[in-house]
Amino acid sequence: MAKINAPVYKNQEIEGEVVDITYQGMGVVKVDEYPIFVVDAIPGEEVLVGVTKVQKNYAFGRVIKRLKESDLRNHEVNQAALTTGIAPLANLVYPAQLEFKQKQVQELFKKMHLDAEILPTIGMEQHTGYRNKAQVPVREIHGEINTGFYRRNSHNLVPIEDYYIQDPAIDHAIVVVRDLLRKYQLDAYDEQTHRGDIKTIMVRRGYYSHEMMIVIVTRRKKLPVAEALVAGIRAVLPEVTSIIQNVNSEATNVMMGDTNKTLWGADYITDTLLGKTFEIGPLSFYQVNPQSTELLYQLAIDKADLRGDETVIDAYSGIGTISLTVANQVKQVMGVEIVPGAVADAKRNAKINGVENVTFELGKAEEKMQEWQMAELQPDVIFVDPPRKGLAPELIDAAVAMKPDKIVYISCNPATLARDAELLATQGYAIKGPVQPIDQFPQTTHVECVVVFEPKEA
Ligand code: SAH
Repeated sequence: MAKINAPVYKNQEIEGEVVDITYQGMGVVKVDEYPIFVVDAIPGEEVLVGVTKVQKNYAFGRVIKRLKESDLRNHEVNQAALTTGIAPLANLVYPAQLEFKQKQVQELFKKMHLDAEILPTIGMEQHTGYRNKAQVPVREIHGEINTGFYRRNSHNLVPIEDYYIQDPAIDHAIVVVRDLLRKYQLDAYDEQTHRGDIKTIMVRRGYYSHEMMIVIVTRRKKLPVAEALVAGIRAVLPEVTSIIQNVNSEATNVMMGDTNKTLWGADYITDTLLGKTFEIGPLSFYQVNPQSTELLYQLAIDKADLRGDETVIDAYSGIGTISLTVANQVKQVMGVEIVPGAVADAKRNAKINGVENVTFELGKAEEKMQEWQMAELQPDVIFVDPPRKGLAPELIDAAVAMKPDKIVYISCNPATLARDAELLATQGYAIKGPVQPIDQFPQTTHVECVVVFEPKEA
């Protein structure tokens, strides 16, 4: 191995002040300009750091001793959630988390030379136990099947029963399923050898409906003792309305495969959002924080400033939540989504809610938008709600070419939002009004933002 020319060495102990916090929620201690990233250290604290890993441009360290503590430290933190990375900001008091997120968005926009006002992050009343969905790996530890979460930057499972940010009813369901897997001596999947069977447990619970779906992800098609598992789950968890086996034979990081087998109950659960009813299948995306989602959609719709006669595009439409929420305020909505099950859910959801002025198409948003542009569609408003990687450049080209009055961007990643805002600006669409960060994911480093773009001359 080449010798690394760094100002620190492994196992060195260094005293220093925490001067910053990274986007991953790690404290930064500097030796000259060289940064050491430290888990569970917050700005203003003085720490004795043990260097654990040295790279050319940075190192990692752990706190040996906290010499001076910050007033912003939260002492009621759940240690497992912090060290596994379930809740990397849980060591900060909540108002400081909100400030961290605003500052993060500000910095990313500044880096792209974007002149925009970033408002204070809208916080949530419920900062823990809010997630309506869990996806936990199943592994064998010391001969016993276990559920939990990976230690940060690793695939080593830490057994966990309290996931801190998940709906406690979901945490309980995971323990119930884990105990049944133990009782019937099922095989946990082994990533190294690609052997064993049970890979993941996914649980989703309707915030208003309390309907619960349990998905057991297996490597093999055949699930032994499926009937006993179903009986065991139903005996203890009366909220469960859907039990599904998902087969994922691939050795990849993708959690779920394409094949679902309903072992018992419905193929989906139902929940409500802003007064509309939604059926949600196992492979469909559904926002994980139902309370902030209602706020988020309301904000996005307010920012669209609708008159009532608009043609609207909902790119990345999922199960149709945004489309169906705006439908009765506009002339027509056209959604596009890449996951077939989600498009099927969206179509059913339009029917259930008696909404007739929406259509949902299956495809890549970037391709469908180009088709719409070729067909000379003239949308007044385009909502985009992409995954973390943001918008494809072709989608931006097509969106701009259709000359909408507004592009309402709902973003779960401020880095790609800033990148796309820059691209939109070079194509004549500027940020109109402030950027609004919303805390969809308390205790984590993630932040959601809503922002509107309008043609520059307007
Ligand atoms: N607006 C919905 C979904 C947002 S999440 C809601 O709020 O619930 C982003 C969605 O984009 C997911 O449903 C995902 O399946 C979908 N998606 C990812 N890449 C896509 C692409 N290239 N084209 C269309 N949809 C895509």
